[in-house]
Amino acid sequence: MPYIEDFLTAQEEEEIIEAIRRAEGKTSGEIRVHIEQKCDMDVYEHALEVFHALKMDNTKEQNGVLIYVAVDNKAFVIYGDKGINDVVDTDFWNSTRDKIQNRFKHGEFKQGLIDGIEEAGKVLSKFFPWQHGDTDELENSISKG
Ligand code: CA
Ligand code: CA
Repeated sequence: MPYIEDFLTAQEEEEIIEAIRRAEGKTSGEIRVHIEQKCDMDVYEHALEVFHALKMDNTKEQNGVLIYVAVDNKAFVIYGDKGINDVVDTDFWNSTRDKIQNRFKHGEFKQGLIDGIEEAGKVLSKFFPWQHGDTDELENSISKG
């Protein structure tokens, strides 16, 4: 697997951030991507730690979504906050995960992330539509750790 710096090109990162911006234009939900080289513990548990460390649990409607990627582990987790899980069926997370997985399997990391963001955005917009005066509660950026 590539080094974290090479996982996505600068251009690809821009496209992903643009996808987040587009998705958030239709929902009050907040989407972020975090990429790490390697995770030495259970990836799901660690994704949760990252979710909290990024203060993603700090949204008004508890509707933050984190896509966490551990490059060396060839693993990723898509984690949605409580507000989402109260209204969305678990099937949604599975179908989103499968979409990302299919792309990742073919080394299409950028497209996998964009597909995941678009899918999450679609569902978020249904349950948490964008409203006038919406603020960008969580910066649209890709963090690395
Ligand atoms: Ca927002
Ligand atoms: Ca945002």
